[in-house]
Amino acid sequence: MTNGGGNQIIAAQDAPFHTLLRQTIFTMPSTLIKVFTLIILLPICSVAGTNNIDLIISADYIVTMDDDSTVIEDGAIAINEGEIVAIGGKTKIQRRFRAKEEINGRNRVLMPGLINGHTHAAMTLFRGIADDLPLMEWLTKYIFPAEIRFVDENFVRTGTQLACLEMIKGGTTTFVDMYFHPEETAKVVEECGMRAIIGAAVIEQESGYSKDFSDAMARAESFISQWQGKNSRITPAIAAHAAYTIGPDNLKLIRKRANTLGVPVAIHLAESKAELKLVKKLYGNTSIHHLESIDFFNGPTIGAHVVWPSDSEIPILVKHQVAVIHNPTSNMKIASGFAPIPAMLAAGVPVGLGTDGAASNNDLDMWEEIRLAALIHKGNLLDPLVMPAATVLNIATRGGAEAVGLGELAGALTVGRRADLIQISLDAPHLVPLYDIISHLVYAVDAQDVQTVIVDGRVLMRDRKVLSLDEQAVIKNALIMASEINGEIRSGNSPGHSPE
Ligand SMILES: [Zn+2]
Repeated sequence: MTNGGGNQIIAAQDAPFHTLLRQTIFTMPSTLIKVFTLIILLPICSVAGTNNIDLIISADYIVTMDDDSTVIEDGAIAINEGEIVAIGGKTKIQRRFRAKEEINGRNRVLMPGLINGHTHAAMTLFRGIADDLPLMEWLTKYIFPAEIRFVDENFVRTGTQLACLEMIKGGTTTFVDMYFHPEETAKVVEECGMRAIIGAAVIEQESGYSKDFSDAMARAESFISQWQGKNSRITPAIAAHAAYTIGPDNLKLIRKRANTLGVPVAIHLAESKAELKLVKKLYGNTSIHHLESIDFFNGPTIGAHVVWPSDSEIPILVKHQVAVIHNPTSNMKIASGFAPIPAMLAAGVPVGLGTDGAASNNDLDMWEEIRLAALIHKGNLLDPLVMPAATVLNIATRGGAEAVGLGELAGALTVGRRADLIQISLDAPHLVPLYDIISHLVYAVDAQDVQTVIVDGRVLMRDRKVLSLDEQAVIKNALIMASEINGEIRSGNSPGHSPE
């Protein structure tokens, strides 16, 4: 790992041509050199003129998350048509390219955008609606009834806009969503410029969105046919709620249809002891064994939480490369427990990081998840060596992108990947002094330090001003909707009073 001190500058692109040119000139008679130089330089100048690109962004440190964990000091990234076309020393990049737009990087860090591997974006509108409860009580007495009562297209649109605003402001560039009315989520993502895997929620019980399982499946398939291949930033998926809310035959059907359609499946997995007890009672097995026994893992699977895998279940996750998304805040808040992330990483399970929905977090701040992921396992295992900063940064970026199947597009800053990156200010007092940039990114940086956010080459936020969403309008709409929800709760129709 090359941290703050490391400085492997990538700028090899011109070397072979220059070497060839030098060798050719040295073997020529001197009279010919001037003529040759003129002939060769004219086309080079015109070629240099064609190196017009969209954007150059620079920084004191570029944390690339490439194969060698390279950190480039005083570097820049050249971006054209949404793609990273060069990365290296700032002077070299500025000499080589002419950009329509330049973003300076004095006292700034550039790194890949954060990957929020598990959330329910629209649930921002339920932020703080019911706190300090165990999972099953929280879910059945508060969340499910509130969803039946309030969740419609307008709710999902407004809540997802609020979520995207919050995520962009905190440096998240990609999220994996599981919710109802996924068409609305997709429309918001299309407009606001983020990247997302959008899972259409499938559940057996009535949800306010779907009457029953077949209705939910029909809606999911219609969403997938509408959005698959439509926008390169949007990957439709099926979101199966959990092994305890969907029976084995229907889970088998979800896997079969997902494989036929070529989409991943996201699921809440082995989240709480209560879940294990329920699944054991229903099917005589723990969640992961149960799902393997019905071939559910026979295709790309994103498993949220995985707090309680048994020792014999971790190899199953490795075998099927099930992505495990760690949600430390949600797991602590609902007291689900400590997911054995260090053991799963050591075994080779693909691990990412997520916030879960705002109703169980209560924000979508990935920096908080980064810090908790670095801290809670040390405390739980009484071992300060577990989950070192570099490991945690990896699961929040490259590891997370790879886990959810977006590794070739995002998660690292390398030539050929899409330009999904964030620029962080080092100006705030809590970031002074600086000895190790990786340490700062994990233990000290806050969401408010994120200055600029770029996804697919488009600048979504610059100097903390979000350009792709109208911040004031989004907040105003969320407040209007929240006052309607609050009015119903106060009038005695509180979700907490539901007979469920
Ligand atoms: Zn969740």
